Amino acid sequence: MSSPIKTTAALLEPIADYETSTLVETMVNDTLEITTICPDVEHGKFIIESGLNEIPSSVCGTPTYQHRSLPRIKILGTGGTIASKGSNSSQTAGYHVDLTIQELLDSIPDISRVCELEYEQLCNVDSKDLNEEMLFKIYKGVTQSLQSFDGIVITHGTDTLSETAFFIESCVDTGELPIVFVGSMRPSTSVSADGPMNLYQAILIAANSKSRGRGILVSLNDQISAGYYITKTNANSLDSFNVRQGYLGNFVNNEVHYYYPPVKPQGCHKFKLKLSPQASTLNLPSVCILYGHQAIPPEIVDMVADHYDGLVIATMGAGSLPKNVNEKLLSLKIPVIYSKRSMDGMVPTANLPKTQDGSSTSLIASGYLNPEKSRILLQLCLAGSYCLEEIRRVFRGVYGG
Ligand code: ASP
Repeated sequence: MSSPIKTTAALLEPIADYETSTLVETMVNDTLEITTICPDVEHGKFIIESGLNEIPSSVCGTPTYQHRSLPRIKILGTGGTIASKGSNSSQTAGYHVDLTIQELLDSIPDISRVCELEYEQLCNVDSKDLNEEMLFKIYKGVTQSLQSFDGIVITHGTDTLSETAFFIESCVDTGELPIVFVGSMRPSTSVSADGPMNLYQAILIAANSKSRGRGILVSLNDQISAGYYITKTNANSLDSFNVRQGYLGNFVNNEVHYYYPPVKPQGCHKFKLKLSPQASTLNLPSVCILYGHQAIPPEIVDMVADHYDGLVIATMGAGSLPKNVNEKLLSLKIPVIYSKRSMDGMVPTANLPKTQDGSSTSLIASGYLNPEKSRILLQLCLAGSYCLEEIRRVFRGVYGG
């Protein structure tokens, strides 16, 4: 760097959200030469205290003083294991949601020097019980906080956290604002409960300027993941969210470390919801998921198809189903998404079955989306009255279609 700023070493104090680890410091003639390996040095800000007749200065022009306001973070509580209590400290199953967001916040270290917090309890349920009414509340809670906060944290049960995160990523233009989902695998009463640390880290993620421009994030077990892609892969372990496309960064000693610069999920189609002021729920079209298995009876298709606006099928492997089930599905008039049972990987369009004249009729490949995310995406497409070709185009964003 051609003209590094020089001052005495003891007087340099980085503002909390810029880590000293991004700096290269060398002493030159009793002064400190500051260079940086941080790519966004243009926006780097430091406070140089005026202890020795020096005046406050800054690296890049705009003077920065110590009394800047802290980021404002909104916490939305919805329940889950993170808000649950068992009857003793060894119980890690069969517990109940019984803790308010206020009580949860009481369990984390003081963060008053990091951010200003506001919180709201939207609901307090196990995430298996989350319905469209509650999803609507979460959507409203998020959209109403976008303008007035610097970050949003949503506490949520891990079982369906990825569905809500996917829905919010698909329906909210988050701009630069970090929205961080957080849950836990152990109830608050258990030995080594993971909730307080996960929540603490979620708040630090939301308050960190490096989290901006990354869309929906998830904080669990020291990992920072992408809400769009994350999946619960283990029903019990603390490291439950774990898919190849998921991890964006991690935490060490409560410092946020991202592996990549800010980026949003590739191919994520954004829907603009138009809701009447009187609306109290989403009322999305109905889509159900069938699960493929050896000897799956083709009649199951007839039993459900008439009752739904669309179907998703969790195929075996990358789109494979018995011939007689494919034939049934090819004959349907409603859209059918071919997804997969496997946690990872994808269903390519090349694997869709075809009629004798080479048509896939209304079958669509899910690409990288698992059945539950495919379901939400299809519901949103149907709610927007997308035609079959448009639905294919939306799924093509994730290499399906
Ligand atoms: N039963 C919980 C839920 O609400 C599981 C969890 O949060 O880990 O999804």
